Amino acid sequence: MKVLITGGGIAGLAAAHALAGGGHDVTIVELAPDLRPGGQLVDLRGTSREAADRMGLLEPIRAAQLPQRGMRYVDDRGRTLAELGVEMFGGQGPVADLEILRGDLTRVLFDLVAGRVEVRFGNSIAALAPDDRGVDVTFEQGSPERFDLVVAADGLHSRVRRLVWGPEADYVRALGGITSFFDVPEPEPLDGWSLMDILPGRRMVLIRPDAAPGRSKAILTWFGDHRLPDRHDVEAQQDLVRSGLADGVWHLPALSAALDTTSEFYFDALVQVHMPELSRGRVVLLGDAGYCTSPLSGQGTALALIGAYVLANELGRRPEADVVDALRAYERNLAPHIEAGRELPPGSGSFATPKSRLGIRVLHAYIRASARKPLLTLVEKAMSSRHDVPLPAYDTVAV
Ligand SMILES: Cc1cc2nc3c(=O)[nH]c(=O)nc-3n(C[C@H](O)[C@H](O)[C@H](O)COP(=O)(O)OP(=O)(O)OC[C@H]3O[C@@H](n4cnc5c(N)ncnc54)[C@H](O)[C@@H]3O)c2cc1C
Repeated sequence: MKVLITGGGIAGLAAAHALAGGGHDVTIVELAPDLRPGGQLVDLRGTSREAADRMGLLEPIRAAQLPQRGMRYVDDRGRTLAELGVEMFGGQGPVADLEILRGDLTRVLFDLVAGRVEVRFGNSIAALAPDDRGVDVTFEQGSPERFDLVVAADGLHSRVRRLVWGPEADYVRALGGITSFFDVPEPEPLDGWSLMDILPGRRMVLIRPDAAPGRSKAILTWFGDHRLPDRHDVEAQQDLVRSGLADGVWHLPALSAALDTTSEFYFDALVQVHMPELSRGRVVLLGDAGYCTSPLSGQGTALALIGAYVLANELGRRPEADVVDALRAYERNLAPHIEAGRELPPGSGSFATPKSRLGIRVLHAYIRASARKPLLTLVEKAMSSRHDVPLPAYDTVAV
């Protein structure tokens, strides 16, 4: 089949790898002028690790991983409240035993598809007209073309979803808050540790290791009803982030100052995408475009990989005439994974991100206690059960 994938992120590239492996003729169209680097550490655990393994991705991912030591919860003076080492939960705790920078994962996938898939950077679908047998596509640049299948992997603000299903507002549900990632000079030697400070006003600040020496990655998650800046107004977004880092404690002044020079800045509302269906005719949604669960869930990359695996295999096990059936089976088999992925982890409720200083003191006492048995066992159970949905069994692996 002649397949067009829009979006060269993790979902699009993983699908391209699996579909090309299944013998399809794959083209990716990516809006950015080049591969989009950047992003924080993302983890592979449970089902997503198995999907990556079955697609032949695990070894190259392991080779590019950034080894981690764990999560350290600190107070406003940088004093350690609790340390959850990677080994404490059999590698499945807040920091997993397989973590890779999002940009490095994108590069791994891109290198695997190079030469097997045509990648067109700096272009996008302008319009599409699906019928029973294929999809006529008009691009912003270049001639129109016909494809047998269009896979929309163009992210949370998917253009294809808007063109086929209608306005984003109909499908995007706000979780009440914002998140921002940016790179910063390492404010203290991290030595493989991620540092988490929970601040009053329902804010979490996380500093995580980067591969580049002397650099690190900061994340601000801020719950509440914010007046959201325009999606393209980076200056206003950075002002909002600065106002969330204005306490003058811990490393916050350094993080705030780093916003002036950061080379990568990501900002968005915390939202989830809920679609009535994942395909219409021969257009199918994959990854954040179809089922963004928000960075809060930590499941975006996992669902992108699982989705790519299930999609490629459902297509691979049927004749081309049955594409629509394959897309329905993809949706059916993915549904339990999406449902599990939407569950937010312990740490996103109002107890874990209190409004008041008193709430923070109670939370700190809880964090200290959690790092000891028997509370540790409860934390472990809550963490691990989220990644247990089994992958469908396929006779053939489409790689
Ligand atoms: C730069 C960046 C950094 C990120 N950092 C993090 C992070 O640190 N932590 C985290 O949890 N999640 C992060 N995410 C989101 C995370 O990558 C996704 O939740 C997850 O990997 C699923 O990926 P996806 O491929 O579905 O979507 P995305 O990763 O959003 O990829 C979508 C791709 O589609 C492209 N695109 C958009 N519009 C069009 C269009 N009209 N035509 C063609 N292409 C288009 C985008 O440029 C992008 O390359 C980041 C996303 C990006 C783009």
